[in-house]
Amino acid sequence: MNTTGLNVTGSRLAQLSELTTQVVQDHVLPLAEQVDRDCLWPAHSMQAFAQAGLMGLQVPERLGGHGQGLLGLSMLTEIIGQTCPSSALCFGMHCVGTAVIAAKSTPRQEDKYLRAIARGEHITTLAVSESGSGSHFYLPATQMTAEGDALVVNGSKHFITNGSHADSYVVSVVAQAGEHQLGDFSCLVIDGNTDGLEWMEPWRGFGMRGNSSRGASLSDARVPAENLLGEMGDQVWYVFEVIAPYFLMAMAGTYLGIAQSALDATRAHLRQRRYDHSGGSLAENDVIQSRFAEMWMEVEKTRSLIREAGRRGDLGEADALPFILSCKAQAAETAVSLANEAMTLCGGMAYRDNSRLAQMLRDARAGHVMAPTTDLLKLWTGRALLDLPLL
Ligand SMILES: Cc1cc2nc3c(=O)[nH]c(=O)nc-3n(C[C@H](O)[C@H](O)[C@H](O)COP(=O)(O)OP(=O)(O)OC[C@H]3O[C@@H](n4cnc5c(N)ncnc54)[C@H](O)[C@@H]3O)c2cc1C
Repeated sequence: MNTTGLNVTGSRLAQLSELTTQVVQDHVLPLAEQVDRDCLWPAHSMQAFAQAGLMGLQVPERLGGHGQGLLGLSMLTEIIGQTCPSSALCFGMHCVGTAVIAAKSTPRQEDKYLRAIARGEHITTLAVSESGSGSHFYLPATQMTAEGDALVVNGSKHFITNGSHADSYVVSVVAQAGEHQLGDFSCLVIDGNTDGLEWMEPWRGFGMRGNSSRGASLSDARVPAENLLGEMGDQVWYVFEVIAPYFLMAMAGTYLGIAQSALDATRAHLRQRRYDHSGGSLAENDVIQSRFAEMWMEVEKTRSLIREAGRRGDLGEADALPFILSCKAQAAETAVSLANEAMTLCGGMAYRDNSRLAQMLRDARAGHVMAPTTDLLKLWTGRALLDLPLL
């Protein structure tokens, strides 16, 4: 089946998609089951992406990267997500972290982080969520205090994808607790070997079991002041111009990938499952044909919305916002509903202990709770369409 849904034939993005498909086939697929079973962080996938030159997807071309935007990110995470959603999440969050560093990078940040990322020698990731603010990820309490040429960070983050495996973490902080306005925080790159950065217990999730989504505490962690991204305290810009768009497109692609694989698995099962008494297949049943068509329609509607969001976002079109805000909510709903329907249509085969379809349903559920959550995204989409402030 054609899963790109867009005519990108012959383009740089088409080449990257083909390369990603090959890497997934050769390196991601063989260990995908083990990633889920053993909560294995997919080092093999990340190494394979690095060797194929894919880790610099969001690094500007002048720094050795591919200079891709929102559309490219959603297409590559979709390809990976069809086979190993945890690998798609790990790669996607690395790309989101990269985009945040690249948005207002200084020459030093370009040399230390972005060129290394493009060479496949550095993994980064995003650490914004905190237990105190939960899904309201734009309200961190982690504090940053200036001390000479260092910034001293105290606080804790939870659910950090790639946690303890990344070389750096893009962390949201507030300059002084109690004095900041809504959404008024800064972003900072913290190296993985910084003193005072301690990891909490290993991740064991209901789904997305390989993404090492761990919590971490920061106790008097000293970070060079030059690791601050952009200007001190004005980073609400980062939330809506960089963090949210890149995060939403990476996640939309990942969850669309799950929906597509549920559709493919269902199609294969319906055609192959035959009854002794009639010799006919499940695919020959009218009701099943109609239900399968509805599944396909949901996947294609979702893909069209995501492609349109990526296209409009990359072109900087004024009306891109509701497309971008809604596409991850749509993808999460489609992934959960497709995996659920696939479980029904594939019958007992799907219900056996930890089947591939059962894993899809578990992985898909994370889509609703990853912030911005489905509820919040619908709220923001409505506000954007009604010309109201999002926050
Ligand atoms: C697999 C996985 C990977 C993750 N990776 C990362 C990562 O890499 N980096 C990172 O920073 N974070 C990450 N997160 C964290 C995630 O983005 C959220 O911060 C976290 O899941 C919120 O959980 P919570 O229980 O605190 O949510 P809560 O804030 O307690 O929300 C619980 C539910 O209530 C709903 N709710 C809350 N307020 C409202 C309201 N006003 N109106 C309507 N509904 C509301 C929410 O939508 C949600 O459905 C990850 C989470 C998961 C599960």
